Amino acid sequence: MLGLMQNQPLLISSLIDFAERHHGDGEIVSRRVEGDLHRYTWRDVARRARQVANGLDGWGLAFSDRVATLAWNGYRHLELYFGVSGSGRVLHTINPRLHPEQIAWIANHAEDQVLCFESSFLPLVQAVHAKCSTVKRWVMLCAADKLPADTGIPGLLSYDAWVDAQSADYTWPQFDENSASSMCYTSGTTGNPKGALYSHRSTVLHAYAAALPDVMGLSARDSVLPVVPMFHVNAWGIPYSAALTGCKLVFPGPALDGKSVYELLEAEKVTYAAGVPTVWQMLLQHMKPAGLKFSTLKRTVIGGSACPPAMIDAFREDYGVEVLHAWGMTEMSPLGTLCTLKNKHLALPKEEQMKILLKQGRAIYGVDMKIVGADGTDLPFDGKAAGDLLVRGPWIVAEYFKGEGGDPLVRDAQGRAWFPTGDVATIDADGFMQITDRSKDVIKSGGEWISSIDIENIAVAHPAVAMAACIGVFHPKWDERPIVVVVKKPGAEVGRDELLKFYEGKTAKWQIPDDVVFVDAIPLGATGKMLKTRLREQLKDYRLPGL
Ligand code: ADP
Repeated sequence: MLGLMQNQPLLISSLIDFAERHHGDGEIVSRRVEGDLHRYTWRDVARRARQVANGLDGWGLAFSDRVATLAWNGYRHLELYFGVSGSGRVLHTINPRLHPEQIAWIANHAEDQVLCFESSFLPLVQAVHAKCSTVKRWVMLCAADKLPADTGIPGLLSYDAWVDAQSADYTWPQFDENSASSMCYTSGTTGNPKGALYSHRSTVLHAYAAALPDVMGLSARDSVLPVVPMFHVNAWGIPYSAALTGCKLVFPGPALDGKSVYELLEAEKVTYAAGVPTVWQMLLQHMKPAGLKFSTLKRTVIGGSACPPAMIDAFREDYGVEVLHAWGMTEMSPLGTLCTLKNKHLALPKEEQMKILLKQGRAIYGVDMKIVGADGTDLPFDGKAAGDLLVRGPWIVAEYFKGEGGDPLVRDAQGRAWFPTGDVATIDADGFMQITDRSKDVIKSGGEWISSIDIENIAVAHPAVAMAACIGVFHPKWDERPIVVVVKKPGAEVGRDELLKFYEGKTAKWQIPDDVVFVDAIPLGATGKMLKTRLREQLKDYRLPGL
């Protein structure tokens, strides 16, 4: 017997409809590339999203066609979030920090039809547009009178001119909630970047879960500043949860330095912020010497990399701000765990609470997780046994776009499919997960991935290099930075500076290793594979120059 409840598909358009009807005058404030602040409301977002949808219809874009963005956090990007997905197309947010070659590769792989970009990325788009073979329309996120002439980009349009010319009358189409809604490529795996393709259902379920009190805990009374980029896993889903709760949104645009973020937090009475540790490090470094305090900030979600104890301490003790340590992945939409205390922990001494708060946190309902040993057997939740962390749930990938990389899932004895995260963790009896290591061969610097294989491939292309291993080492600002460990060919000569210069133009600047360490041999396993765990152990006393 089936239940007798109305069967309405969970669609992203329902979020913006809701925000318009019930929180129409809720504010959206954005710092623009031009430097000024733009203000309007959820009602305006909804109207302009419908105009975007009409514009895409007018171009004859088919259901599921991809519309790409190269954009900061701002109101035009927000309109595209709802207009593109709501009308049945797929929003593809591209990370502008990637190397131009990689951007073109991703746009071609996704078969993007339209690419909307921030005016500050014009030089980048000029460099890549000829290589993006599927893109038919180029749109610059700017006013009509700001569109430069003679850009060399065929048919370049002003976003505002295009949107303003459309009718705001539009009825959101109803379709299967499992339809694709947006996509994001991750470089946090070996091989080519892989696309996580989210659905309307996964996005709406994730938005519900993210808003729960023990997760992000968002409400209509919050003023929320996502520093985490909208090109990085949909800014951790905040735009969707914001529409669902009707909170005020404050977008920092490109200004992510401590001073700019602080000014915006204060001016817009922000109660809630989210970002990677590097951003908060810059904020605290700006505030401390000047003796600045927060007037309204109450909570901040910190994730993407492990949150250093000193940061939790500083926020809590010096500024009275609650830190919510979070863990997730592009493949998980991204939220997996958040760290909040349980009732029984409230009476514990501060140091004991701190030990818990440093963990990555408890699973959110919707995310099932477990740890397994090398032979795949389940390990106990005892806070001691460390194993590969596996997850499953309705907002976790089943496969990558176009089946790239093959079947990513592993099956247990009951035939249930799990996604291996590439993280190594413990889980305690209360369900708090703590990451202890990473089995995937990638480096995370300031919240962004660097492929160690790419760095090694460039090094071994140098005629004097016989073997190269790239590993991550601690850095106080970026969390991790790559160094490359090199064995020279017999009789060949190459110096540190020459090799670092060799990287220029071959990878994004920030991905170039910080140092070269020359060694006689790199430890190898039985199959000839480089043993990075042993190498890291050998270099445990290594410090980056100048630190
Ligand atoms: P995001 O940066 O949004 O978490 P990514 O897919 O770029 O998403 O990165 C996911 C990976 O980042 C995780 O598998 C893990 O290795 C690392 N990571 C994310 N959050 C944390 C955290 N709180 N502590 C330690 N590592 C983390």
